[in-house]
Amino acid sequence: MKIAVIGGGWMGMVLSKRLADQDHSVHIFEREAQLGGLTTYYDYGEFYWDKFYHVILPGDAALLGFIKEVGLEAELRWKETFTGVYVDDKFHSVSNSKEFLLFPPLNMFQKFRLAMTILIGARINDWKKMETMTSEDWLIKYSGKTTYEKFWRPLLTAKLGDSYKEASAVFIWSYIKRLFEARGEGSSKKEAMGYVAGGYKTVIEKTEEVLQDMGVNIHLQTTVEAIRPHGEGGIEVKYGSEVAHFDKVVFTGPVNVLEKVVDKSLVQVSGRTDTVQYMGVACMIIATEKPITPYYVLNIADQSIPFTGVIGMSTLVDTAETGGYYLTYLPKYINSKDEFLRKSDGEIQEIFFEGLFRMYPDLSREDIKRVWINRAFKVQPLQVLNYSEIIPKTSTLHPDFYVLNTSQFIQGTLNNNSVTSHVNKFVEQFGEELKKGSPSQVLNN
Ligand SMILES: Cc1cc2nc3c(=O)[nH]c(=O)nc-3n(C[C@H](O)[C@H](O)[C@H](O)COP(=O)(O)OP(=O)(O)OC[C@H]3O[C@@H](n4cnc5c(N)ncnc54)[C@H](O)[C@@H]3O)c2cc1C
Repeated sequence: MKIAVIGGGWMGMVLSKRLADQDHSVHIFEREAQLGGLTTYYDYGEFYWDKFYHVILPGDAALLGFIKEVGLEAELRWKETFTGVYVDDKFHSVSNSKEFLLFPPLNMFQKFRLAMTILIGARINDWKKMETMTSEDWLIKYSGKTTYEKFWRPLLTAKLGDSYKEASAVFIWSYIKRLFEARGEGSSKKEAMGYVAGGYKTVIEKTEEVLQDMGVNIHLQTTVEAIRPHGEGGIEVKYGSEVAHFDKVVFTGPVNVLEKVVDKSLVQVSGRTDTVQYMGVACMIIATEKPITPYYVLNIADQSIPFTGVIGMSTLVDTAETGGYYLTYLPKYINSKDEFLRKSDGEIQEIFFEGLFRMYPDLSREDIKRVWINRAFKVQPLQVLNYSEIIPKTSTLHPDFYVLNTSQFIQGTLNNNSVTSHVNKFVEQFGEELKKGSPSQVLNN
């Protein structure tokens, strides 16, 4: 079958490999000049590293399986890392269950409720019920107001900015599960995280090489403008002045793009009353000659700080990988429609610097050798109440058109392990169907 994959992010890349494994003739269309989407790499001048910070967890079985498949297992690096929380102008490590339970801002009773909330969350299987209440209500119910304010709310804002109030309890439930996958059983078991030497640049370039060797046609800098049914069966894809005809098409981009390019007869894009909203991210990346933070992730429980976390990339990655600099990412997750995302780089830098120097008074402007601002508008779908009712389904109104994107993660967090699993399940479920064309189809190449 001749199959088009629209979008060359991690979803599109893994899917193209799986389809090529089944001997389909695969064409992948990517708007940007390089593959990878949000996972892609960035030219920081003296070195390349991930455009946005990415980490691999020991429990990321599907992702690790793929990394092995493309021959990069030997390039995996693992390290003990630490997680912190910034609350009441102080930094606290919460890197293992023991530290968690010693968390000074909470008294014994509050800590007990925190531990119970995690245990209860870990045991829940019925996510559908959790869709009907907000994360905030669920957390206050089990943890109480103080524990919520000092511990949980920073976690929520770290990922959802001010939109955290709209998130259903499914969000925090799946977050708890992934967070604790980084740690083993037992009170002092260490937190381990990993990456591939050379960062995602290595992973993306190696996967691209594997795809090319398998005969996948990679169309870069090619924006798909229309997807519609073809009169003789199959689907037609328009890009620039070209129109190509495929047996099957799988769309992997965000919902707003789908809405724009797809013929309405192919798919129901949104629910009756609502459509998927996205969180965007503005991220300042700084290079210093001395370390800023001992934590890989620091969540911030102080709403006056203008960013939502501090990611100490160099607590995981050797500085030899990043031009000898310590690299720190300061993300602010924010609703994709918020004006903040449209501010100039200079404006964002000044706002973030003010917060940074307040948190780290020993740090001065002279210590910051390089600064970059990267931003993305459609990152994380906002899991509002009854979210599963508003997303586009994988199987559509047309037998030859499929949607496979991150909006469909109704019970998991956004990460490349979930993306890889999503593709694996799709191929398992629809693999046979993908091999069949309708008898009326007469396709040209
Ligand atoms: C700040 C940040 C931190 C993260 N940290 C981690 C982490 O630590 N670990 C982890 O596993 N994951 C992490 N992730 C998540 C990871 O990046 C995502 O899981 C992954 O990128 C989703 O891939 P995707 O292919 O579904 O979407 P995308 O990457 O958004 O890919 C969609 C692609 O479609 C293309 N496209 C859109 N419209 C068109 C069109 N009309 N024609 C052609 N192409 C089009 C886009 O250019 C894009 O390349 C992080 C993400 C961010 C933003």
